[in-house]
Amino acid sequence: MPCFGRVVKKNRERKQKEKNEKKVSDRPSANSKSQPPERKQLHNYRVVQRNLVYVLGLPTALSSEDTLRRPEYFGKFGKISKIVILHRTPGSSQTTTSAYITYVLKEDAAAAIQVLDGSTLEGHPLKASFGTTKYCNNWIRSLPCNNPDCVYLHDFGDDEDRFTKEEIQVSLATLSVFVII
Ligand SMILES: [Zn+2]
Repeated sequence: MPCFGRVVKKNRERKQKEKNEKKVSDRPSANSKSQPPERKQLHNYRVVQRNLVYVLGLPTALSSEDTLRRPEYFGKFGKISKIVILHRTPGSSQTTTSAYITYVLKEDAAAAIQVLDGSTLEGHPLKASFGTTKYCNNWIRSLPCNNPDCVYLHDFGDDEDRFTKEEIQVSLATLSVFVII
């Protein structure tokens, strides 16, 4: 009489083996990760801007461009080319706000993040990270972009700075390095 338990086990092993084999064949080729995505798929991607700092937790009293540019605040890390402050909703009781600070040099942005992330400003804890941007919709569709103020990307950029939205969300949960704009 065959040992039933053994047959079941064998069967299970075989199924598991098939499953593993299937997994392997489902997997895209090993170097597909290094292949750049097609241009028309780039709307799913975000690109880390190494000269853009996103700061959360700024006291609203300091939230003016002139103040933030000062040498005692963000100016001390290097030359700033642009500041965008995300003002709080009128009438809300928020005591802090967030801002995007674009430095001329990537090194200055990295230095600012290193110093500011986890520090406090007037009693408010700050969170600082690199900002991200996305690809221009026209450029993705190989159309000319006629908007002279378009702030989105019109080239592929560096492979290592390109992430899918999902990858960025994972990073957000684990490293809190990237922020989607
Ligand atoms: Zn554009």
